[in-house]
Amino acid sequence: MNIYFENGKILTKNGGYIFDKDFFGKEVIKNKINLKFAEKEITIINIIPHENSFEKNDIRNLLSVMKTEDLNIISRARHMLEWDYSHKFCGICGKKLNEYNIKQNNKVCPECGYIHYPKMAPAIIVGITKGDKILLAHNVNFKNNVYSLIAGFVEPGEKLEETVRREVGEEVGIKVKNIKYFSSQPWPFPDSMMIGFTAEWESGDIKPDGVEIADAGWYEVSKLPNLPLNGSIARRIINFIFEGKMVGKNE
Ligand SMILES: [Zn+2]
Repeated sequence: MNIYFENGKILTKNGGYIFDKDFFGKEVIKNKINLKFAEKEITIINIIPHENSFEKNDIRNLLSVMKTEDLNIISRARHMLEWDYSHKFCGICGKKLNEYNIKQNNKVCPECGYIHYPKMAPAIIVGITKGDKILLAHNVNFKNNVYSLIAGFVEPGEKLEETVRREVGEEVGIKVKNIKYFSSQPWPFPDSMMIGFTAEWESGDIKPDGVEIADAGWYEVSKLPNLPLNGSIARRIINFIFEGKMVGKNE
């Protein structure tokens, strides 16, 4: 069975994304990797962009419409395909790595023996409240004037709560308290994992850093700006804060 990707987008036909036929010849295959899902082996294939009869879907747009099990498969497939593509050679001695070993979940260097495991970049995302308002920020990279939560990558040596405090301090200049874990979401763009939190304002006035965050403010439920996509963890945290319960998929 095969799952196909083209330029990071998953290929579908009539809503399906797992196929038992080989659709593409060697000449258009960039890389491929065999993965195991619930005892079933599936080949994940990355093709070179070209005219074909498949629909090309950004995974972000599937978050609110696909079942959690399917999203987990697709997220793992995309993450591992990218890792395979960007880890062909040993970073220590430069030799070509062995094929991915499904059982051991790694690639071994045939020359120096170094074991290369799939890498993942954890990132925090936090919904901050002040009374009945929520902090929403416009990142310079956001399209459609969307406002979302503060997020950022965990640095080596940091606890997740420390990342929350540091990122909030750096991006909007305030202090937070009562940091609580919310939920998580695989974020394979290309290899992240979003770890969601809620927190409360403790002190300070909002000062957007002007580099990543162009604008930020406290918003009440009746005056919300454009929000992130349904099904994203950002949106689920926002919904949770205003409705007091888990809303959406991937709980
Ligand atoms: Zn090596």
